Amino acid sequence: MKHLHGMRELIQYARDSGATDAALIPARDILAEDHLAGFCKPPGCDQFGKAMSCPPHVAGPSAFRQWLPLFEHALVFKIDTFSEALLSPQALLLFKKLHEIASGVQKKAVLMGFLNAKGFAGGSCKTIFCADQEKCGVIAGAPCRHPLTAKPSMSGFGINVSKLIASAGWEMKRASLSPDAAPETPVTLCGLVLID
Ligand code: SF4
Repeated sequence: MKHLHGMRELIQYARDSGATDAALIPARDILAEDHLAGFCKPPGCDQFGKAMSCPPHVAGPSAFRQWLPLFEHALVFKIDTFSEALLSPQALLLFKKLHEIASGVQKKAVLMGFLNAKGFAGGSCKTIFCADQEKCGVIAGAPCRHPLTAKPSMSGFGINVSKLIASAGWEMKRASLSPDAAPETPVTLCGLVLID
């Protein structure tokens, strides 16, 4: 019962931190697929290789599949927004918020005794946190400049976001942005915290 209470507290914490909604799903419901991580490779993403938390520097889908049995739950959270916002300077704030919620929930889960809690967000932390720097600090051989906030991107681990959203019981909106999308097209940004 204490466990269940803790999970409810984490869901509420994610909502209070700015998530449109949060839900708990069984960790075994998450799919990490090689072909999805493949989209991070050129020409899929121009940030490939530029941050320590993106491919090819992350362990990727096969490692994620090995970790999954070590976790019982996953807290999934989302921020609902619109194409227009993601094509404006507000996008940076939305992605920062995504990382802040993932890192905040992870920290709270650890403090509650889920010592291996592991958070994932979206977008390259190089563009979100270190855009004014020539190189990712870690790739340059120094510590991460934002170790308490920057989380690895789910994309690099091939997480199937459509499945994540369906498992959370939410309606699927666009999970990524198309430049020709109408300004009012709904888009969902998603994050995840694995909980042992
Ligand atoms: S130093 Fe910057 S780009 Fe590198 S991992 Fe940390 S936040 Fe990401």
